[in-house]
Amino acid sequence: KCELVPFRFDNSYSRLPNAFFEATAPTPVRAPFLIRLNRQLTAELEGDADLLESQEGLEILSGNKIAEGAEPIATAYSGHQFGGFSPQLGDGRAVLLGEVVNAGGDRYDIQLKGSGPTPFSRRGDGRSALGPVLREYIVSEAMAALGVPTTRALAAVGTGEHVYREGPTQGGVFTRVAQSHIRIGTFQWFAARNDQKNLQVLADYTIGRHYPDARDTHNPYLTLLSRVIERQADLIAHWMQLGFIHGVMNTDNMTISGETIDYGPCAFMDSYHPAKTFSSIDHQGRYAFGNQGAIGFWNLTRFAETLLPLIDSDEKQSIAKAESALDAYDTIHREALEKRLLAKIGLQRGSSDDWSLLTTLLEAMADNEVDFTLLFRHLATTLEQGDDLIITQMFRQPKSISDWLKVWRSRIEDDQRDQAVALMRQSNPVYIPRNHRVEEAIEAGYQGDFSLFHRLIEVTQDPFHEHAQYAEYENAPLPEQIVQATFC
Ligand code: AMP
Ligand code: MG
Ligand code: MG
Repeated sequence: KCELVPFRFDNSYSRLPNAFFEATAPTPVRAPFLIRLNRQLTAELEGDADLLESQEGLEILSGNKIAEGAEPIATAYSGHQFGGFSPQLGDGRAVLLGEVVNAGGDRYDIQLKGSGPTPFSRRGDGRSALGPVLREYIVSEAMAALGVPTTRALAAVGTGEHVYREGPTQGGVFTRVAQSHIRIGTFQWFAARNDQKNLQVLADYTIGRHYPDARDTHNPYLTLLSRVIERQADLIAHWMQLGFIHGVMNTDNMTISGETIDYGPCAFMDSYHPAKTFSSIDHQGRYAFGNQGAIGFWNLTRFAETLLPLIDSDEKQSIAKAESALDAYDTIHREALEKRLLAKIGLQRGSSDDWSLLTTLLEAMADNEVDFTLLFRHLATTLEQGDDLIITQMFRQPKSISDWLKVWRSRIEDDQRDQAVALMRQSNPVYIPRNHRVEEAIEAGYQGDFSLFHRLIEVTQDPFHEHAQYAEYENAPLPEQIVQATFC
């Protein structure tokens, strides 16, 4: 313990019953060093950035000291991993330091990830290699800048110690900020143990923290289910608008708040294909780009199952109510996807003709291995300048796309063109953290050079506007730069 107060903690989760967590301190490391502190996020949390940047702050961010007011715990959860149920997961390499509430009343978790073993570490060492720490920092901050609900990166530190993966590699600790770390898997923990009392404590706590308006509805637990369905259905559509593949949509990696969490083997696609996966462990393509919507539904069905005893005391009634809530998923997700994808081609409302216009384009992109991010960005330019070459040269068979361009142009009336261009520019980013850029930043980081890491974070902070000095970051990878697989 120490007297340092980087944040004013107010820890509600550790006041829940004992079954929710294990009190666990982080394990100290030998020679920590600060790689990056997110000063802006620290300010949003009304924290003391100067303290966190000091030698003493480093002790806190590395887990060597516990700040005043923090009460480190490892939280309990279960989860379906690649479809198979694991009743005993939990924070095996992370501790929740505590929560802060800012003046606006927003409550946030502050968690150290890679801070050593906990009672939930079954085989693992409770540590993180440096690479995944840097990846999570880059990608979560890029997602936030892109407007996607996400956990945030507060800090990255190196530990000055080795972790053992394939061989010895440098370790790191990541400080994560989230609206909470409650997952579908947290509900599964109590459901799997038939612990209805604590299940209800969790549901009430979750409603109070994330969906307070549900409390005043006819059936708060059914409303909770519906709200989570709405948030996840749009979240996944949002990922797909940006060509993002989460990679490990296990139920323990799906938050109840609707924030994206756990950036492991995730990726933004370069060339488009709906069957794309990057995760080195996703052999079946379960979490492929185009499967994400269906997996979201599968996960939410698992969530609904945990709530059945709370929704209605009559089992049949409860199932019927949960099923009707789940039925809404398909429509919400499809409408969100249509809105978000049609905006990419400058269309606001969609008829079924518009949707088939879009899917024709996507099929041509898949057949021609066209870069997802560049194509949509260039379409706006084409519409504005009337020159098709910038698009047709991206296709091996230019004929198919020049026909498409004619139909698309005729769909957008002359007086709507400026509006369409504006919509496209705000729906299609210029800068995403491309895999080869992330890998290059990680490789340099392992050599002790964090300049590419810092630069990539800067480049992705204003992703919808062109910046001349970042022009090279717009480019798709050269053939030899293409990253085929990402690891956690
Ligand atoms: P994740 O891949 O981060 O979603 O983790 C899945 C489960 O494996 C969670 O229970 C983690 O706590 C656990 N886990 C992952 N990596 C480690 C590690 N290095 N040490 C201990 N547990 C781990
Ligand atoms: Mg306990
Ligand atoms: Mg996880």
